[in-house]
Amino acid sequence: MGAHDGAPLASDGLAASDSPVAVFCPRCGIPLEHGDHTLCRAALALEPPRYCPTCRRRMVVQVTPSDWTARCVEHGETTRSTWAPA
Ligand SMILES: [Zn+2]
Ligand SMILES: [Zn+2]
Repeated sequence: MGAHDGAPLASDGLAASDSPVAVFCPRCGIPLEHGDHTLCRAALALEPPRYCPTCRRRMVVQVTPSDWTARCVEHGETTRSTWAPA
């Protein structure tokens, strides 16, 4: 039941620009190049991020019974993990 595939809808008139680069750990907010975020990565498979991985703003998180949505006022909405497979 892969529900969401394809590009997100640009509903705010903001065209989806280049995909943001994850610089900060979405869970602890520490830059990814500092420290070991293995536990964070594991946790983020189950819970929403707390910080925007691009600008480190606090994410506005909404949890639904089936999924979660985290939104950065600057970079928009994120669903599921933003961890790139690298
Ligand atoms: Zn972390
Ligand atoms: Zn952001």
